[in-house]
Amino acid sequence: MREIGHFIGGKRVAGTSGRSGDVFDPNTGEVQAKVSFANKSEVELAIANAEAAQPSWATVNPQRRARVLFKFLELVQREFDNLAKLLSSEHGKTIPDSKGDIQRGLEVVEFACGIPHLLKGEFSDSAGPGIDLFSLRQPLGVVAGITPFNFPAMIPMWKFAPALACGNAFILKPSERDPSVPMRLAELLVDAGLPAGVLNVVNGDKEAVDTLLTDPRVRAIGFVGSSAIAEYIYSTGCAHGKRVQCFGGAKNHMVVMPDADMDQAVDALVGAGYGSAGERCMAVSVAVPVGKKTADVLVEKLIPRVESLKIAPSSDPQADYGPMVTKAHLDKVKSYIDVGVKEGAKLKVDGRGFKLQGYEGGFFMGGCLFDEVTPAMRIYKEEIFGPVLSVVRAKNYEEALRLPSEHEYGNGVAIFTRDGDTARDFATRVNVGMVGVNFAIPVPLAYHTFGGWKRSGFGDLNQHGPDAVRFYTKTKTVTSRWPSGLKEGAEFVIPTMK
Ligand code: NAD
Repeated sequence: MREIGHFIGGKRVAGTSGRSGDVFDPNTGEVQAKVSFANKSEVELAIANAEAAQPSWATVNPQRRARVLFKFLELVQREFDNLAKLLSSEHGKTIPDSKGDIQRGLEVVEFACGIPHLLKGEFSDSAGPGIDLFSLRQPLGVVAGITPFNFPAMIPMWKFAPALACGNAFILKPSERDPSVPMRLAELLVDAGLPAGVLNVVNGDKEAVDTLLTDPRVRAIGFVGSSAIAEYIYSTGCAHGKRVQCFGGAKNHMVVMPDADMDQAVDALVGAGYGSAGERCMAVSVAVPVGKKTADVLVEKLIPRVESLKIAPSSDPQADYGPMVTKAHLDKVKSYIDVGVKEGAKLKVDGRGFKLQGYEGGFFMGGCLFDEVTPAMRIYKEEIFGPVLSVVRAKNYEEALRLPSEHEYGNGVAIFTRDGDTARDFATRVNVGMVGVNFAIPVPLAYHTFGGWKRSGFGDLNQHGPDAVRFYTKTKTVTSRWPSGLKEGAEFVIPTMK
């Protein structure tokens, strides 16, 4: 059985804790590897390596740090297809979708390659008599990222690329469910010229995470995962004096106005609701048609599309989506269908019984569609994270605007309409962090920032874009005056600009 250890001090090392977890092939249900769970002393070793390597990495000038990332881009591109296969084999998402996962990560690496420009500070010439003022952005030191299973390439890259570019050392604690791609990315960074110890990967669970959260040498924590864990990480990390940003779960609505192109809206809902088996934080899980006629047409058009989704092994080029990540997650998602039926929602398409010949042990589930879901139901309130779409019928635009605005999650939201006024009003007033206009999955590009509101995001700064540079640096401001500008005698009054 393949064993996955850790990546410490520039190389793979075997785990020593004696504790490990199963990494499945979700297509067959078989265990394909064992991943070691780091104990406190293994994590402390990673932190010590990072702490030793960071000061000299911080003195490498930004252009040279960017060159390492340029080289890393090239190395990842070279093995793009193999990485996508590896990712797909542990996660279960299709190969094209796995490529998208890697590509969206690389786009943040490309952004981080601009670090010489991004790190330029501010300068005020002659701010007073003979006085110049300037600000510097300096790295924090050792920082850590804790990432979820659903984007095992993209989210680690969103974290480590800007952090490393800014001159920090990084410790990654990836999801224990699909750790192989993050481990390979760490190797490629070293091949690209990153000095040993600047990036370390510790695999594991709560014990590894708690060590990172409490060790004073770790200055900042970036987390992505479910909201309950995000809240725990945020409060524990802050209580230990760290800078923390956490991105949590979601319940993304898509409002369909009566003037929308219904076929485009249905295409968008099917792709964004069921792609990657719904295991995306930006998946649309709630459709909100406005008015009875819109709702009736939408549901009528959705039913045959959901019934005919092609669910197949993740390597099948025809697959719309593959299996779910684990049996435990599959069972949880199925249990939500039972809940919805009990709550009185109308189950229009039931994918619970889906079976794939030859892959009976795989974690597959058919698409499910609920109509007449209400805001009081658990299937509306809670994140299901599976191939399940709920239709909540809104009487009018104001009600449709209120639903995502009042939901406890606030990650993404979309509106489909041809009316510019309505779209603009919606984008301005909706109480959600990322908005799409005729765009179902509005994940901002790398040079803008990504972040949800309410229980989808904790902390002040977003991921990637300019916020990433702010998060991974501290600002120092220098006020300087040279002897020729100094007046004689002590000044007892605070200097002002009067
Ligand atoms: P998860 O919360 O179970 O795990 C995330 C990370 O936290 C993993 O590395 C895991 O090992 C660790 N972890 C789990 N339990 C822990 C505990 N008790 N103490 C300390 N650490 C713990 O999330 P997941 O199932 O891997 O990912 C799916 C979730 O992530 C969904 O809720 C999804 O919406 C969310 N997500 C959010 C975003 C975003 O940007 N907002 C992006 C992707 C995924």
